[in-house]
Amino acid sequence: MSRGRIDREKRIVEQMIRIYCRHKEGNAELCSGCAGLIAYACTRLDRCRFGEAKSSCQRCPVHCYRPDMRRRIRMVMRFSGPRMLLYAPLEFLRHLVR
Ligand SMILES: [Zn+2]
Repeated sequence: MSRGRIDREKRIVEQMIRIYCRHKEGNAELCSGCAGLIAYACTRLDRCRFGEAKSSCQRCPVHCYRPDMRRRIRMVMRFSGPRMLLYAPLEFLRHLVR
């Protein structure tokens, strides 16, 4: 089974967290908190029960994030969502279209 979709989702989440860390937190290098968030998000994606059939996490009916992680990822999404159009427009648009 191809893992393409999950891998793409991971890349998008990682990119959004990197944008958040650099532009919102002002870190030149990814901080350990955000690195941990990326690792956590990737673990959740690996364990996602929808696997390759999943839609984007915003529309996912299963809230699989721990409450504190969920709060953080939502802040990241709110900040980086619009900015993804500037920094990674093609990948992000493909993400929205699905
Ligand atoms: Zn950070």
